Amino acid sequence: MKFSTKKTILFVTAFILVGAIVIFNNFFTKTIIGMAIFAAALIAYVIVCLIWWRCPHCNSYLHKLSPFADFCPFCGEKLE
Ligand SMILES: [Zn+2]
Repeated sequence: MKFSTKKTILFVTAFILVGAIVIFNNFFTKTIIGMAIFAAALIAYVIVCLIWWRCPHCNSYLHKLSPFADFCPFCGEKLE
């Protein structure tokens, strides 16, 4: 899968997670099942981030690099 595709999926998923916690605030913060679902989704997201949020050239983890960044801060290659 291309890095740009992974980046788009991660970005959209982050929006969905944030949107879900805002829209279904009462469900996710006041019920045990809601908290469990949100915690599981968050953990799954972090794991996918750790696997996907890497430079396709040097395989360095990109940490808090902006999703709009075009170049790897480690090897300088274009992220696409
Ligand atoms: Zn790199």
